[in-house]
Amino acid sequence: MTNDIFTDAITRLDKAAEYANIDAEALLKLRTPKSILEVSIPVRMDNGSLQVFKGYRVRHDDTRGPTKGGIRFHPNVHLAEVKALAFWMTCKCAVVGIPFGGGKGGVIVDPKKLSRLELERLSRGYIEAVADFIGPETDIPAPDVYTNAMIMGWMMDEYSKIRRQRTPAVITGKPIPLGGSLGRSDATGRGTYYCIKELERIRGWNPEDIRVAVQGFGNAGQHVARLLFADGYRIVAISDSQGGILRNSGIDITCAIKHKNAGRNVYSERSVCGCPICGSIECHCKTGDDSNGSSITNEELLELDVDLLIPAALEDQITGDNAARVKAAVIVEVANGPTTADADDILNSKGILVIPDILANAGGVTVSYFEWVQNRAGDYWTVDKVESRLHKIMSLEFNAIHDLMTDRGIDMRTAAYAHSISRLGKAIACQGTSQFFSASPDGKPNAENEATTSEH
Ligand code: GLU
Repeated sequence: MTNDIFTDAITRLDKAAEYANIDAEALLKLRTPKSILEVSIPVRMDNGSLQVFKGYRVRHDDTRGPTKGGIRFHPNVHLAEVKALAFWMTCKCAVVGIPFGGGKGGVIVDPKKLSRLELERLSRGYIEAVADFIGPETDIPAPDVYTNAMIMGWMMDEYSKIRRQRTPAVITGKPIPLGGSLGRSDATGRGTYYCIKELERIRGWNPEDIRVAVQGFGNAGQHVARLLFADGYRIVAISDSQGGILRNSGIDITCAIKHKNAGRNVYSERSVCGCPICGSIECHCKTGDDSNGSSITNEELLELDVDLLIPAALEDQITGDNAARVKAAVIVEVANGPTTADADDILNSKGILVIPDILANAGGVTVSYFEWVQNRAGDYWTVDKVESRLHKIMSLEFNAIHDLMTDRGIDMRTAAYAHSISRLGKAIACQGTSQFFSASPDGKPNAENEATTSEH
């Protein structure tokens, strides 16, 4: 990939435009973010010294509603990445038809090196710095990589203090006692799972025959693995930032999750690498031919001969360099942007089906929308209501995109973008197109759309 990650991300627009109902001006609008804020966050460290962290908040497009998207704490955060992540949020919210645009935030920090008090001060400091930029009707943050419900709780509290008014709808992914929604914590993985279940139905899969590799064992990776494992799918490989394990007869995911999260501080200090040989907890992996499994690297995991490959870590994992070596039949993108644009063509030419991130991981923001609705209504839903509404949205949009892919003979990413930008194009056109504003000689606008057709 020679382009920066944002430039790479928006190349998908041009390809999809051919199959979408969107005019050139609407596309032009989507090519650049609406606004970008860079902030400095001074934090008093436990040893008395002052450290200044750099952070960003990007609002990509708010035509369909307030901008929405997570805040990431990671040492590699950079502006092009936050812009790409905000762009993907715009497309993702339109894919699932929720009334939000896209935004994203990030702080350049290794949060694992902070004490709990330093982490709290940084979280509150970030909100102090962006408070004029966000709000329940403007821009609504949520968790992302290395941020969690407790951090969202601190952030909501800080915003409420600044406004001198309790404002739960300013942020989603909060702890449930502070106004969070039931079903939000596993929503990203659950949304992915509902997509896989639709594919299972279409392809007539028997779960026991399906070999799965999951790259990344954070929140989303753990939940999708847990749900698939409970249905009988054979999860043969998992990994985290320290490396991975491979066990052809299958990994006991319940055990792996217990192992990974045991003694968890804010961030897990344990790796899945030690899992199949963990003596301390009951482990059902210890039967079968390769009882201890073997170690693999993250790179090797991506090239395993499996039916389903689930990248659930960070961007730029499947690239022009390794795409030719990917052997999975289906890739389901739980991470945002795990595949670069130059890898797309290689994967497509190999006949690999890619369920793209803007669809596969949209469950998280969908339940964030439910949380925002509940906060504003002051009426809280049961977990059954949350899950059944999520299921309905994910299966409906999955099938619409799958049908578009089949009907037009295109790849699923292009179909997802076409589906998404058709919705965005309609909304942008309602504010007037060049056709509408370039009046005909009799002074009447020369084109009409739904928004310009009179009621009577
Ligand atoms: N960070 C998540 C994502 O990338 C969730 C965003 C949200 O809930 O607003 O989709």
